[in-house]
Amino acid sequence: MNKRVYVYECGSYDYKNLIEIFSEYFKKEGCEMEGRKILLKPNMLQAHRPSENVTTHPEVVKAAAAAVMKNGGICSIGDSPSGRGRLNAESAAEKCGFLKICRDLNIDFDYFDGQQLRQVDIKNGRIFKKVLLPESYFSYDIIINMPKLKTHSLTVFTLGIKNMLGVVPGLGKTEFHRRALHPDSFADAICDLFSVLIPDYTILDAVEAMEGAGPVTGKTKKLKKIIIGKDSNAVDSTAERICGADPLKVPITYKAAKRGLGEMEGYEVIGNRIVADENFKKPPGYTIAHKIPKKLLSILSLFYGHVPSLSKRKCIGCRKCFNVCPSDAISFSVFYPEFNIRKCTKCFCCAERCPESAIGVKKKLLSRITT
Ligand code: SF4
Ligand code: SF4
Repeated sequence: MNKRVYVYECGSYDYKNLIEIFSEYFKKEGCEMEGRKILLKPNMLQAHRPSENVTTHPEVVKAAAAAVMKNGGICSIGDSPSGRGRLNAESAAEKCGFLKICRDLNIDFDYFDGQQLRQVDIKNGRIFKKVLLPESYFSYDIIINMPKLKTHSLTVFTLGIKNMLGVVPGLGKTEFHRRALHPDSFADAICDLFSVLIPDYTILDAVEAMEGAGPVTGKTKKLKKIIIGKDSNAVDSTAERICGADPLKVPITYKAAKRGLGEMEGYEVIGNRIVADENFKKPPGYTIAHKIPKKLLSILSLFYGHVPSLSKRKCIGCRKCFNVCPSDAISFSVFYPEFNIRKCTKCFCCAERCPESAIGVKKKLLSRITT
């Protein structure tokens, strides 16, 4: 695998500057695109406005599409958001700004929801031995993965490797949480999937990132960077170091490295020397959550860790959180959801699904004392 990661300083989402960055990268790496079908796979978690910094910024995706087309590539954008159905996906693609790009550049949006599925075997899968994926995904010659740099209260970060979970249509994503409750098992499940979906390039939007209690209600952090490479794990590791985190403490990253799915170290960084931002706020549980043995997790989690917490001011009582919870940990006695903390596995699917960003992250007593 190519061992170069490019770190570009990028102060804003200026479209022309972004096109220059991508054109320069494609030229330096000799990317052959003429006449080839190319998929841009952004983070389209849910219907969020670009200003919320939950999803990949549309100017980044649009500039990448323009650079691909300049190189003769036939470009499409595609993804599946949290939740079920084509209508849900259309509303996400519109609100995130991706459909406008398609209209402006006259390119297609590929909805992974509601199309024919192909069963793919996962050799050496630890949690999954097979997975159902949208047929159209296999029609592309080149896949460009376009994640957003965000913290995640279950996985520490959500970056390039985890972004590929969006290829799994609709509620199939929830099955990953249902079958892999512990952060370590979930990392294995994500690596299982990634082993059959390795993209050709990863372009990480770290211009305006998310820190703290991600993946939805964290705070915007201007890191002012675009990070690009062919090795998604090397891109992720670089981003983690820039955020002052140790890739060894990020289960998806170290497991991917251990399984030969990408490098965690020993690759070349092109651009400015990596300077760790020690002020970057990690999510709750960064230091020890994944080290808690599985058998102890349910007992310790009564006192330690972080749990979903509701903002009644924002909640509209739509019950989407209830439908997506893989652990039956949400009930409705009246208008608002109630969380059964004993059953909750801290996957934060509910927070990802909530259209009003009404579900945040609350630290439990021991966590407040120790972190
Ligand atoms: S918390 Fe969010 S998803 Fe759940 S009912 Fe309220 S608005 Fe809907
Ligand atoms: S309540 Fe939310 S965080 Fe807890 S298991 Fe259900 S979806 Fe996951």
